[in-house]
Amino acid sequence: MERELRIPAAARAYVELGWAVVPVHMMRGGSCSCGRDTCAAPGKHPHVRWQRFQTLRPTVDQVAAWWRRWPDANVGVLTGPVSLLVVLDIDPRNGGNASLRAIEERWGAHAPTVESHTGGGGRHVWFRTGEPFPTRVIDRTCRRRSAITAQSACPA
Ligand SMILES: [Zn+2]
Repeated sequence: MERELRIPAAARAYVELGWAVVPVHMMRGGSCSCGRDTCAAPGKHPHVRWQRFQTLRPTVDQVAAWWRRWPDANVGVLTGPVSLLVVLDIDPRNGGNASLRAIEERWGAHAPTVESHTGGGGRHVWFRTGEPFPTRVIDRTCRRRSAITAQSACPA
């Protein structure tokens, strides 16, 4: 119950910050809520066609309608220019800690910012930017185009 109240409020707060928010499937009884046995990204893919929201942020009313339709949906945020966000996905299973060290050795430690823990033991480091991604390294490191927010329940 608490989660059902919290997630729509979080989605609304994020869209009011100017972030492009989309509803994302969740895990239900060990399976993705999309119901496909062969789901390629259980609990991590949007309910809606998200591509147009890479350039057009949904409205507060649109976001409210989505969470009325799917009240238990996780919250996905599209990163990049539409939300003025860059999220570094530090995944230790794929060399993320070494990549971050290499970035910090070259450019110094990143500015203090918010981080969220990921289901796989890694973390997302969130940055607000008013510019396109400034370096090729960040571009390469930041292949992920969306992030599931901390309020969401995600598999590893
Ligand atoms: Zn699915």
